[in-house]
Amino acid sequence: MEFDLIDAIRARVAIARDDVTLGIGDDAALTHLAPGRQLVACVDTLVAGVHFPRDTAPEDIGWKSLAVNLSDLAAMGAVPTWALLALTLPEADALFVESFAAGFSALARAHEVALIGGDTTQGPLSITVTALGMVPAGEALTRAGARVDDAVFVTGTLGDAAGALRLHQEAGSRGHGTEVQRPSTTILSSRLNRPEPRIAAGLALRGIANACIDISDGLLADLGHVCTASGVGAELEVEALPISPALAAAFDPAACRELALAGGDDYELCFTVARAREAEVQAALARAGCHATRIGRIVAGSGVRVLGAHGSEVVTPQAGWEHFSQ
Ligand code: ADP
Ligand code: MG
Repeated sequence: MEFDLIDAIRARVAIARDDVTLGIGDDAALTHLAPGRQLVACVDTLVAGVHFPRDTAPEDIGWKSLAVNLSDLAAMGAVPTWALLALTLPEADALFVESFAAGFSALARAHEVALIGGDTTQGPLSITVTALGMVPAGEALTRAGARVDDAVFVTGTLGDAAGALRLHQEAGSRGHGTEVQRPSTTILSSRLNRPEPRIAAGLALRGIANACIDISDGLLADLGHVCTASGVGAELEVEALPISPALAAAFDPAACRELALAGGDDYELCFTVARAREAEVQAALARAGCHATRIGRIVAGSGVRVLGAHGSEVVTPQAGWEHFSQ
């Protein structure tokens, strides 16, 4: 039974790479790391009902379980190469596995990531993906390089996924079938369910950005990690936060701001760059097909402060989503 499921996954996620010496089927996989490269490794678990709503489509779960990991590789400036998939399923549901694998495969193909192994067990639905990638030795982006006076940028727009989740929860509390399907709702839902990892942006930032992180727990929390790791503080201008037309159509300005600052699940990159290199970074990102917005600056001290239109400090309701905090 388990082997049929593994075969179903393998059949749908068969991506050939020259650097995979031995893929799925043996006790472990063998890969080849090119000389002068460092291996970049990360792992993330998605638990049903915690990291995605239980009624999320299996294709979307498959896509997202890889996407959140590729986002971590993007933040390091890495090229993704291989992935491992540990799947815990309540039952041997072939239809679920086929759909899940189709979603996983769509993103894996887009980035030429080969699935080289995994594990399949029975239990409450949970997906753990290990993603592996490469960087030229010594060139990885980290959280630790931010310097006083750097500009703080963020790619894309913020708060869309958290907005989608809030709409979904509100519809759920009104009873099923009442979710309003406006065009903006569809756009926000796809940001929640099909995040696009910013791989090309991460590569473009290598050698230019001083520090980089991907936003999974909310801008305030994740920029806070950069500040802690770099021994600096940051000031954000609330008016500069990039809000999508879809989010602005669905929520009032105060809610948009809160979702953008603390919502989470954005999978955008937040990075810092020396002010003298701002034009260079914008040009490099434009070549990578990505847009970034300047949202603040790095200052001496610690912590993240949010400034309003006239430089006054804005009080924020929460400093980002933290597991086990309630
Ligand atoms: P073992 O008992 O030696 O761990 P398994 O039966 O768990 O072997 O796995 C057999 C092969 O199938 C291994 O190569 C493993 O990496 C692969 N595999 C198992 N589950 C998955 C999965 N969900 N996705 C991809 N590969 C898998
Ligand atoms: Mg095993």
